[in-house]
Amino acid sequence: MHCPFCRHPDTRVIDSRSTEDGAAIRRRRTCSKCGRRFTTQETVLLMVNKRSGVTEPFSREKVVAGVRRACQGRPVSEDSLAQLGQSVEEAIRARGAAEIAANEVGLAILGPLRELDEVAYLRFASVYRGFESLADFEAEIQQLKAEKGES
Ligand SMILES: [Zn+2]
Repeated sequence: MHCPFCRHPDTRVIDSRSTEDGAAIRRRRTCSKCGRRFTTQETVLLMVNKRSGVTEPFSREKVVAGVRRACQGRPVSEDSLAQLGQSVEEAIRARGAAEIAANEVGLAILGPLRELDEVAYLRFASVYRGFESLADFEAEIQQLKAEKGES
């Protein structure tokens, strides 16, 4: 890893310790050229398996971008989108798996999105639940109405 200050390619680890929860290792490094110090962190990357067979690191930004598309024209603030992204990521990480199917990420978005905006939820659900006809939408809308009636 190169020095973030002078970009010199040679840095030395001077201290290395686990974080309190054991989920990461932090390393204190020093640059052999400019002598400045910085800290790096090593964590397990949460990987997403896409249907194409490609695996990529989980990205909260991608979750938010997908939800933002579904929310086009809806009264949903960037703050709410950011909060949704955070709660989806926390829910997925809480499962403790190192890999997750892309479809499961989509499904994890559905719950919080339904709380946020029902129209955006229907748009999103139509993709991730594979709605194929008006009847699928009707069934989902009926269920939304039924749950609203109950509460
Ligand atoms: Zn340096």
